[in-house]
Amino acid sequence: MNIEEYSRNKDGEKYVENNFQLKEFACNDGSDYFKMDTDLYPCLQRFRDYVETGVYISSAYRNEEYNREVGGANGSYHTLGQAVDIPFDETFNYLHSPYDMARFFKTIKMPSIILYDWGIHIDTRPYDNYIKQVSGGYENIEIGKVYIPLYRVLKKGVERGEDIGILQFMLQRLGYDVHVTDYYDDATERAVYQYQANHGLGYDGQVYTETWNSLIG
Ligand SMILES: [Zn+2]
Repeated sequence: MNIEEYSRNKDGEKYVENNFQLKEFACNDGSDYFKMDTDLYPCLQRFRDYVETGVYISSAYRNEEYNREVGGANGSYHTLGQAVDIPFDETFNYLHSPYDMARFFKTIKMPSIILYDWGIHIDTRPYDNYIKQVSGGYENIEIGKVYIPLYRVLKKGVERGEDIGILQFMLQRLGYDVHVTDYYDDATERAVYQYQANHGLGYDGQVYTETWNSLIG
């Protein structure tokens, strides 16, 4: 977790990652001050890359007053700058429902996902929380993982692909020194060797079922 504070006027036009601008995270009441957990940005970008279309954020930071106004939970993670709401959009590729969106964020290890009929809420609270809104409240749910194509072995020399990007993203979140390029470059091979060594896996710098299962597991 890494909370940064911002001014809508000064910072709003700045980009985070490739496809998001800071103003998208400001409070919907139009006020200037906001804060956000910067750990959310790469996760949102990864989602955006996966669905291959624009991603609308309907609510991110909320000040206390606005949170009360919209009926947000007391102490909502939105007021801490740790939460983002994303409505489902029919133009998303590969993901056909809010539940599919939840599966994507579960796959990349988002610790907290709330499933609604209109979309999802994600936040970076320090413990696992997978729930669904039902009439009268919330209930715990199991969320599966999205399909990551296992039709090929990932290793040096293979063609670029989204599966490599997801691998790199997951390694990066675990602290390995790798960039998300969608290419299986030297840094990626090195990180895979290290990951396999650290997890007692067969040790070849290539990724197939065993290493995927360990990463996603
Ligand atoms: Zn929310």
